[in-house]
Amino acid sequence: MNKIADNLQKVRNNIASACARCGRDSSEITLVVVTKSANFDAVKQVARLGCSELGENRVQHLKVAADDIEVFLQQNPDDPALPKKINWHMIGHLQRNKVRQLLRASQIIHSVDTLRLAEEISRNAEKLDICPKILMQVNCSQEPQKYGVPVGAAVHLAEQIVTMPNLKLIGLMTMGPLTLNKDIAKACFARAHELFEEIRGEKIGGPDFKHLSMGMSQDYEIAIENGATILRIGSSIFA
Ligand SMILES: *Cc1c(COP(=O)(O)O)cnc(C)c1O
Repeated sequence: MNKIADNLQKVRNNIASACARCGRDSSEITLVVVTKSANFDAVKQVARLGCSELGENRVQHLKVAADDIEVFLQQNPDDPALPKKINWHMIGHLQRNKVRQLLRASQIIHSVDTLRLAEEISRNAEKLDICPKILMQVNCSQEPQKYGVPVGAAVHLAEQIVTMPNLKLIGLMTMGPLTLNKDIAKACFARAHELFEEIRGEKIGGPDFKHLSMGMSQDYEIAIENGATILRIGSSIFA
C-alpha cells in the first residue's frame, strides 16, 4: 500500500475504534479531508480512495483545487473508484470580500463567526439563488483564539443567522486548543457539545441543525468521544 492509502486506512480504523469505545456508529461521522498541505496528485489519490468531502482553509486554494478536481472527474467519468461529486468545505477564516468568489466553488462554510459575515453570505447567496450550508464557528478553548464567536454570544448569533434568507444553519464548528493536553481538549469539545445541544434543544435551525465539526489530526478521537459528527483531518493523512 502507498503512504496516503495507508495513512487514510489508519485514520478510518482509529475513527471506528473511537466510535466503538463510546458506543457510536461510525456512519454518523463525516470525514472531511483537509487538502491544504497536499499537492494535486495527493488530492486525486484521496478522491480515488473514496473521499468525497474535501476541505481548504483559503478561498484561493479552494477555488484552484476545486477547479482542478472537477476537470479530473470529467476526464474520468467511468472510473468506479472516483466519487461522482466532490463537496468542498471552507474551513478557514473567511473575509467578507472573498464571499462571492467562494460561493461559486463551495457551499459548505464552517467558519461563520460574525453577523456581518453571515449577512454578506446571505446577500450573495440570494443573488446566486443558492442556499449554502453554514456552520457557526465557536471559540470554545480558553485560549485567546482569534476566530470564533464567544460561547456566551453564540445562541444569539445562531438566532440571527436562521432568520437570514438563503442560509441553512447546519451546525457548529470549533477548533481544539493548541495544547496537546488531552483534558484541556476534552473540556473544549465538551463545551462545544453542550452548546450544540442547547441550540438544538431550542430548535434554532430546526432539523437541519445536526452537525458538530470538531477534531483535527491531533485530537479527533477526543472529539468523537464528545459528539463530533464532522472531523477535519489533513496532516495525518498527507504527512
Ligand atoms: C488545517 C486545518 C485542519 C486540519 O488540521 P490537521 O492538523 O492537518 O489535521 C482542520 N481545521 C482547520 C480549520 C484547519 O485550518
